[in-house]
Amino acid sequence: MQQTPISILEHVFGYDKFRGQQEAIVNAVVGGDDALVIMPTGGGKSLCYQIPALLRPGVAIVVSPLIALMQDQVEALRALGVKAGFLNSTLTPQEIYDNEQSIQAGQLDVVYIAPERLIQARTINLLQHSQIALFAIDEAHCVAQWGHDFRADYLRLDVLHNEFPAVPRIALTATADTRTRQEIIDRLALHNAQQFIAGFDRPNIQYRIQPKDRPRQQLIKFLKQEHDGDAGIIYCLSRDKVEKTAAWLREEGFDALPYHAGLPPEIRAKHQRRFLREDSVVMVATIAFGMGIDKPDVRFVAHLDMPKSIEAYYQETGRAGRDGAPSTALLLYGFEDVVKLRQMTSNSEGNEAFRRAEQERLNAMLALCELASCRRQTLLRYFDDELPKPCGNCDTCIEPPQTWDATEAAQKALSCVYRTGQRFGVQHVVDVLRGEKNDRIKQYGHDQLTTFGIGSDISQHEWKGLFRQLAALGYLDVDREFGSLLLTESCRTLLRGDQSIQLRKDAKITTKKGKRQAI
Ligand code: ADP
Ligand code: ZN
Repeated sequence: MQQTPISILEHVFGYDKFRGQQEAIVNAVVGGDDALVIMPTGGGKSLCYQIPALLRPGVAIVVSPLIALMQDQVEALRALGVKAGFLNSTLTPQEIYDNEQSIQAGQLDVVYIAPERLIQARTINLLQHSQIALFAIDEAHCVAQWGHDFRADYLRLDVLHNEFPAVPRIALTATADTRTRQEIIDRLALHNAQQFIAGFDRPNIQYRIQPKDRPRQQLIKFLKQEHDGDAGIIYCLSRDKVEKTAAWLREEGFDALPYHAGLPPEIRAKHQRRFLREDSVVMVATIAFGMGIDKPDVRFVAHLDMPKSIEAYYQETGRAGRDGAPSTALLLYGFEDVVKLRQMTSNSEGNEAFRRAEQERLNAMLALCELASCRRQTLLRYFDDELPKPCGNCDTCIEPPQTWDATEAAQKALSCVYRTGQRFGVQHVVDVLRGEKNDRIKQYGHDQLTTFGIGSDISQHEWKGLFRQLAALGYLDVDREFGSLLLTESCRTLLRGDQSIQLRKDAKITTKKGKRQAI
């Protein structure tokens, strides 16, 4: 019987219909075209190359940076009767030799290869003496140099185009603002590829972004009230915070495990396995965890620190709810995040243009946090995807934030930054505004300033919220080295009174002790 994409979908994979653009993608690759596939996590990218792999003669080579997952992927395919194998550093020389022999003899349908191995002369030579059905380049955004998952070996994958011009290539990723997309096309020489860009909306994920006040209380309330017994991921910026948060959650009775690149590989593998196999493990992790993790029932992703770009936020939150059931993405963020990330971007490797691009991406993330309108609309617009009306399933849709005319308060705040010489961090400036008589203020004579005590009617929390928003909106900058507040060009119109400003009122929460607090 003649095999077709749909017969393979049914008989090998056991599904009755294609999803979204899968069929068109499969047809393009089967027909010998190159393809660029941008599809959200959980969209079903794997079938886009696995089905052509079975329809075209020869072996399909899948390039993936996810060495830890290759074994699982191969076993899953073997269970379906697909002849699959892999080549990476976890194998013994003998196993590698055997697999190489099978490739050359045409005994395999699909082989996963780590990029660092693929680009070796030995591997290229082997492939030149084998029949190749196609090359699939998974996690193709790893080629983007400014991206958070950059892998230098990916840059050398243009060898595939140069050495195997007749073999179709399909590049796949879930990350894709227009810049990443262009960089993938340029670096992998995919100028003639058909592009398949799926919608980015993940309607079952509820987006919530809250200012960080008492993060532990906020988190515990979220977990206990909404996600008790659920599997989820909690992201932190540092390894240290990962360890501490996991230990604390265990004390609180949650089955929490730490995961970061500083842990021994066997511990990481063990924790990952437990997370994948069990129902209610909470993984507390740095961003080292998550790429390629296929766990359909992750019910929540919580960020205790702000991601450095909207792409990162989208990618990380996208690990929730791959099964389509309601899930929550909670982000707690505060002024410290802005300071820390600004410092990190300015200290990062790369030239001026690179740092500026990073800065812009951070600013877009901040603007998303301070948004008073639908989060999803803004998120999708960032990926050039339009949502015609507000989503009804994000915090700002569910409970529209109140805004207030903050013009006068902002003027006070900015002039206090100016009067104190743009040499102090937010805490000190707030103390001056509120007229606190502490040692530091006396030491600098700041109790003599005209701005001393002019803001005693506004609480400490509210002031901090205001500074956070002013920084997020670009009226204030933060010194890269010392974290002191700096005025920017755009604050002039505010200071002169030529412009008014509406800011979000931070929501109020009731804390454990029953006290109302701004968050
Ligand atoms: P991605 O790589 O895009 O994150 P996967 O390829 O891992 O997504 O697919 C996500 C899930 O959807 C998998 O469990 C897969 O088996 C399932 N899936 C993919 N295509 C279909 C389809 N046409 N019908 C039903 N389930 C599908
Ligand atoms: Zn919304």
